[in-house]
Amino acid sequence: MQGKVAVVTGAARGIGAAIAERFAAEGARVVAADMDPMAGDAVVGRIKQAGGEGRFVACDVTRRDQVAALMDHAIAAYGSLDVVCANAGIIHNTPFLELDDETFDRVVAVNLKGVFYTGQEAARRMVERGIAGKIVNTASVNAVIVPQGLAAYNASKGAVNQLTKTMAVELAPHGIRVNAIGPGSVATDLFRSAMLTDPEAMDRLRARTPLGRPADPAEIAGAALFLATDDSAYFTGQTIYPDGGRLAL
Ligand code: NAD
Repeated sequence: MQGKVAVVTGAARGIGAAIAERFAAEGARVVAADMDPMAGDAVVGRIKQAGGEGRFVACDVTRRDQVAALMDHAIAAYGSLDVVCANAGIIHNTPFLELDDETFDRVVAVNLKGVFYTGQEAARRMVERGIAGKIVNTASVNAVIVPQGLAAYNASKGAVNQLTKTMAVELAPHGIRVNAIGPGSVATDLFRSAMLTDPEAMDRLRARTPLGRPADPAEIAGAALFLATDDSAYFTGQTIYPDGGRLAL
């Protein structure tokens, strides 16, 4: 990652922050994008304190104009666009019969359309500049299994897997690789908010996760790093699942 320019969305906390910090520690110049400037600035502060290079850019991934401006910012600031992680995501907890339009639309707008905007605005610039970039989308084990009360979330993540494969096939002629990470349960704010609404959820998680614990965000960042570097040179169109064994059960 030395000298590479990496954009990470949803980088103000959780998995995105861990990816941004790990990429910077590996020598990348990181543009951390999020809707939360205070938390985003704190992540960039930690990157700089550790001797890395990074900056925060405010961006709502549901807004194409803001995503386009984010990519332009990275290129203007650092001169390239080598790795892009479309990681921003939100969750909900609503039984299917009660799921309303607003919740469904919001979850799909962030988790799916945000990945589309991020990938397309990034890839157009990579193609224009002849950059053999790497795009890493954040899916979930929920792309293939269906925890209840998460219809919009599950559907959005299943669609991210299909979008990842389609992008991989169409961008391969340009030398761009597109893969996804599909984490199991990760100890982030998103995960904790889901746990709060369901006190027995942690017991169920332990029962359903062979490793018996949620992941630390840094463990997910390691998978993203693999997909962002030439260590994964023959991978494209894949989702790899750092899930503590969840999908093996
Ligand atoms: P988190 O809530 O800790 O962090 C998500 C970040 O995304 C926040 O900083 C938030 O401000 C940002 N964000 C939300 N909407 C945005 C938007 N429209 N534009 C830009 N930024 C936005 O969540 P997390 O657990 O770190 O999740 C990150 C990704 O990992 C998500 O795509 C999530 O679905 C996925 N994931 C999480 C888990 C888990 O257990 N935590 C498991 C599988 C997949």
